[in-house]
Amino acid sequence: MSLLKVDNLVTRLRNGARIVDDISFDIAAGETFALLGESGCGKSMTALSLMRLLPDGVVNASGAVQMDGVALFDLRERDMREMRGGRMAMIFQEPGLSLNPVMTVGRQIAEVLALHHDLKGAAAQQRSIELLDQVGIPDAPRRVREYPFRLSGGMKQRVMIAMALAGSPRLLIADEPTTALDVTIQAQVLQLLRDTQSRTGMAMLLITHDLGVVAENAHRVAVMYAGQIVEQASREQLFARPLHPYTQKLFAALPGAARAGQLLSAISGSVPPLGSIKQGCRFAARCDQAWARCHEQNPEWTAVAEGQGVRCHLYGEEGGGGKGKGGRGKGRSGAAGFPFSLISFPFTLAGRRPASALPDPQRHPAACGRQR
Ligand code: SF4
Repeated sequence: MSLLKVDNLVTRLRNGARIVDDISFDIAAGETFALLGESGCGKSMTALSLMRLLPDGVVNASGAVQMDGVALFDLRERDMREMRGGRMAMIFQEPGLSLNPVMTVGRQIAEVLALHHDLKGAAAQQRSIELLDQVGIPDAPRRVREYPFRLSGGMKQRVMIAMALAGSPRLLIADEPTTALDVTIQAQVLQLLRDTQSRTGMAMLLITHDLGVVAENAHRVAVMYAGQIVEQASREQLFARPLHPYTQKLFAALPGAARAGQLLSAISGSVPPLGSIKQGCRFAARCDQAWARCHEQNPEWTAVAEGQGVRCHLYGEEGGGGKGKGGRGKGRSGAAGFPFSLISFPFTLAGRRPASALPDPQRHPAACGRQR
């Protein structure tokens, strides 16, 4: 049974442009579901829509989102605040902007503990220290009394993770949770999240551009491009046989021992501004396999195998693909013969999203149920 169920989520700008366009997925308790894609594909906006923390200029999110059987879009804001930080929490990309600069990190964690566990005073202080210790902050009894400006970027990120875990959420939305961390701490933090999951059954929506993080942590994966999910599959299916030309290009851009001495492959062009393409496949301008139809018709979703689907004309009826069929897509794309297993590739696809392209966490400080 799904803990989170998202059906036909659409998020619009004031001018009507759909920046998250008809997205559906579900996550079971204890499961990690990854949203993968380049910066600017709508991954963070999807997460903010689920948390009902839309930035200025984004008017509404429609569709149906059920968390533990509760329809989130029908809740009053007061009830939604209870939901945030309690049943669902989010780790933002930019901890420096999300932490309150005039409160010690201990007080910020204690606020979550008071709100969601009714834990106060010395007990809250002790629990805050434990949480900081769990996320790998050295000398936690001292650090708990520090202000955020005394901490490095990686430490702030870990404080954010501690705050998110403080509410014992049933669903954790982790938006690039380890981007600011060095590899050793990254491994520790991911292990901590996995341990928390197996201990508590917490589900995780993992937003990342890092195929290494996906390979090690995700059970299922959705690949996003320009506001749409273009491929969804189990981790094993995706890494064994990526279908969508965009997914294939992401894999082809990875370095590896087998390609030593070769030029790294890059995806030409860039992601179009969200909501800017009204007709045809959104990836057409960057796709080597595009033909006339791709520029004229939006590709529909096609189920290709049990648990794996794709939004591409190569696999639709005209492309000859679809479930159980040997398609034009398979022949043209060469996906069936994708030559290597990438499960253990510990590489990063892209650099961090430029600050200018980020939603402003200052405008949605309540992700951990904390009020400024
Ligand atoms: Fe490429 Fe056409 Fe498929 Fe889009 S629909 S990914 S342009 S082949």
